[in-house]
Amino acid sequence: MAMTKNIVLLFSLLLFHNLSYTQTQPWQGKFEPIDNMISPPNTYRTASGAPGKAYWQQRADYKIKAALDESNNTITGEETITYYNNSPDDLRYLWIQLEQNVNRKGNEDFGSFFNNIKDSITARQMQFLTRAIDFPAGYTIKYIKDINGNSMKSMVNNTMMKVLLKEPLKSGSSLSFSIAWSYPITDRSMFFLSREGYEYFPEDDNTVYLIAHWFPRMAVYNDTEGWQNQQFQRLGEFALEFGDYSVEITVPEDHIIASTGSLLNSDDVLTRTQQNRLKEAGRSFDKPVMIVTKDEAENNEKTKSAKQKTWKFNATNVRDFAFASSRKFLWDAQAVKLPSNTVMAMSFYPKEGLPVWQEESTKAIKNALEVYSDATFDYPYPVAISVNTSNIGMEFPMISFNGGRPKNGRISDAAKQGMIGTIVHEVGHNWFPMIVSSDERKWMWMDEGLNTFLHQRTIAERYPGFSSTTPQTIVPFMSGDKNILRPIMTTSDNELLTQFGNNFYMKPTVGLQMLRNSIVGRELFDQAFKEYANRWKFKHPNPADLFRTLEDASAVDLDWFYRGWFFTTDNVDMELTDVKWYKVNEEEFNNKDQKKTIKLKIEGENSGEKAKDFSSGPEAITMTSTPDASYGGYLSRMDEPELRKQISGKNIYEVSIKNVGGLVMPVTIEWIYTDGSNEIDTLPAEIWRRNEYEIKKTFVKEKEVSKVNLDPNFEFADTDMKNNTFPKAETPSEFDEFKAKKTTN
Ligand SMILES: [Zn+2]
Repeated sequence: MAMTKNIVLLFSLLLFHNLSYTQTQPWQGKFEPIDNMISPPNTYRTASGAPGKAYWQQRADYKIKAALDESNNTITGEETITYYNNSPDDLRYLWIQLEQNVNRKGNEDFGSFFNNIKDSITARQMQFLTRAIDFPAGYTIKYIKDINGNSMKSMVNNTMMKVLLKEPLKSGSSLSFSIAWSYPITDRSMFFLSREGYEYFPEDDNTVYLIAHWFPRMAVYNDTEGWQNQQFQRLGEFALEFGDYSVEITVPEDHIIASTGSLLNSDDVLTRTQQNRLKEAGRSFDKPVMIVTKDEAENNEKTKSAKQKTWKFNATNVRDFAFASSRKFLWDAQAVKLPSNTVMAMSFYPKEGLPVWQEESTKAIKNALEVYSDATFDYPYPVAISVNTSNIGMEFPMISFNGGRPKNGRISDAAKQGMIGTIVHEVGHNWFPMIVSSDERKWMWMDEGLNTFLHQRTIAERYPGFSSTTPQTIVPFMSGDKNILRPIMTTSDNELLTQFGNNFYMKPTVGLQMLRNSIVGRELFDQAFKEYANRWKFKHPNPADLFRTLEDASAVDLDWFYRGWFFTTDNVDMELTDVKWYKVNEEEFNNKDQKKTIKLKIEGENSGEKAKDFSSGPEAITMTSTPDASYGGYLSRMDEPELRKQISGKNIYEVSIKNVGGLVMPVTIEWIYTDGSNEIDTLPAEIWRRNEYEIKKTFVKEKEVSKVNLDPNFEFADTDMKNNTFPKAETPSEFDEFKAKKTTN
């Protein structure tokens, strides 16, 4: 008995095998698990993507006293670091980051992006290229002392300083030591990708200081890298430990400081009027209140006080500290209510940012705080600050420096959208990487990609008139030259300057949009994304932790997606190669006919030839009766007459699709019927499991179809839409193409 049954089963399997389309090119395992491509789970990081039982991270608390010398653009500081070794290891030395050293002359190989002469070169590019105007840069370290005042031995390797310990720092113990330092603040216009430095305004002889990666900071020591002491080469940003900060900053008396943290001595540094306005702002939830008005800022511009004032701040559980200082600042603030926190949203800008900065900056902070909090967790800090700069945006905990300035008070729509987008983006960085603290030096895409995803969602939800990123945005990049394209899973400094925006910001964003909107579904995806953010807030996640969590929290196998989208430079290009139309005619079938094979009438004239469209009508198929042997002992006989009745008179369409681009994706098929109505069918990406190159799928439709489109709503960044329709779209004449090109140019 068992033997007979096996034969029957074997027969059925063979039958189905014949029905499936056989792959003729090498199998690439596109649906195989990515376990061998990502770090294996361990006691620190679980297979579910969560921090493990033995997860640990170091901690560094800072007490800093610094003074800004406006007369020679120098900053001088003394700091005490208390470093907690929570690792299971004893440490014989510590690594400290000295990012300012990247600006030293002779570091061009590390910090320069421009290496070649072009026919036409701007003066600015020539300065970047040659440093024709030289200027001092980099740290002077005055001393490094232990808690007893004894000098500690250290060695500087470019942007990293090694501090040697007399006794190893035991696992579970802490160490306090002090560093005194100074460095010349550099002119922002002297560098490409200048995240900090000063901006000088010759019209009124004043300066805006944007002070960041300014004090020697602990490098990260973790279970993944040991010491993350990779040099700062400008593109790969920062890896930093969390800790508490107590910071005192001495600046000219007429300066206003915008800073990470809470201001502790407003009585000493703000006027009574300013303090009252701040209190009012704390109760103003619908619009900002001016703390320093335009007239007051313009008065400050003229005073040029030689006296000094010390501002005191503290910040809890942050991974960095930055500030801006100037007598040019206008200042506005308003309160933003989140479910578990009320935040002061504040903007600081020179009058050159008016009027748009006053109208839009704090509003943009509020929008970012609300949308991001809803998507992840409530913003946990007391303030969120946007400071206006001449160009580029840069994020730090609670504060960001954001580019965008009108010309003569006017700003184009595009520039305004760019400015608001920048503020939303940089405020959004508070979540990624300031709180969900991934290693930016290694994986730029982890913070930029996730942040741009929520930044674009904020724009789409709060600024519906603005243009925002969609899968279409990434098409020109993904159809680019494969010789220079790199996968998203490329470390930060190995990416090209011309590509990192697309590869580390846009491509992950579009990938997450596709997961949310078209692959996992909004409700499940949003819950899984939130799970990742909450699992890793105030911790250091790796790519594997993100990949695993999104699957763990959704029950959707996404390894095929990660494998293709993050680890290759393949693109989506599906070609609708053929649609065959069949029909079964009921009259041709006689219920009582005992013959096993029934030929159906051929309706089309050109049957057998490959049809270019549906004009020749449906083809006939041969449907044979199922052999008795196919019915096993436990199966009842299929009601074939009923089956034939169900099929009879209906339109059967067999769709053939080729995977030209290499990426497997779900398939969306739009049917446009002869009566003008339409319908969409969606096939999961798993349709490509059996054949990664070409698939066929059969559909039964009541109505007759006039046209079939693949990916009609452009959900999957298909790089060539011309091959997505049947009947094939008419190819445009050369003249049309020429005209289209001219219009685009
Ligand atoms: Zn960013």
